[in-house]
Amino acid sequence: MTEVSVAKEDKAATGDLVVLDSVNKHFGALHVLQDIDLTIHRGEVVVVIGPSGSGKSTLCRTINRLETIDSGSIAIDGKPLPAEGKELARLRADVGMVFQSFNLFAHKTVLENVTLGQVKVRKVEAKKAEEKARALLDRVGVGAQADKYPAQLSGGQQQRVAIARALAMDPKVMLFDEPTSALDPEMINEVLEVMKQLAEDGMTMIVVTHEMGFARSAANRVVFMADGRIVEEATPDQFFSNPRSDRAKDFLSKIL
Ligand code: ADP
Ligand code: MG
Repeated sequence: MTEVSVAKEDKAATGDLVVLDSVNKHFGALHVLQDIDLTIHRGEVVVVIGPSGSGKSTLCRTINRLETIDSGSIAIDGKPLPAEGKELARLRADVGMVFQSFNLFAHKTVLENVTLGQVKVRKVEAKKAEEKARALLDRVGVGAQADKYPAQLSGGQQQRVAIARALAMDPKVMLFDEPTSALDPEMINEVLEVMKQLAEDGMTMIVVTHEMGFARSAANRVVFMADGRIVEEATPDQFFSNPRSDRAKDFLSKIL
């Protein structure tokens, strides 16, 4: 190894992980993402907030290529989208996604939910995959539920399994789209605690949420969206104490 290549690797290891450049997306006449420029650094936790319909979910889905874009570019760890075939499967594994509705495989056990992708996409040997799954289930506090089916678990437990399932793929970045919105109030904290721990462990995270306590305590940056645009970006302190735009002021006055 030459010194030059080491220096390059160091740079890649500390640099930009997700880069959106002038991204545009329409649904028919609706311009749902408008000139989105957004860079997520390795290890950064970015909370995306904004009114319903502002394009937050669509933004997440384009990063995972569940939606195509009309113009602009998206790169994950230096690799441009769109990817196809095997590349796409690998991309989806690199970008862990946790949805509002837990989306577990209903006819697979909790353990199987967390091993399947490892074996199929990452080609991990079954025994290794199971070991890792059990360790992750323990880490998110549902180790005792490994042999149950999703429907036998509470919503909070299911969502923690969904997080373990995504983590099992060793993702480079985790996307959370309103992960606690479908939960009963008493279960919200157990999921947020797992997410906070993940953030403290250095995971790169993009989190769409209305949980402002989480944003204040875990986010490095808040991105405020309205009508398909990023209207404001700031640290949580700046954003919550001194929002600059009228849209953000109006939004905060309604939710705080
Ligand atoms: P948010 O997550 O901020 O509530 P979304 O990204 O879900 O916003 O939606 C942004 C806009 O795009 C909304 O007006 C929504 O109705 C519309 N939309 C989302 N998905 C589709 C789709 N598949 N087809 C048509 N319109 C859609
Ligand atoms: Mg949404």
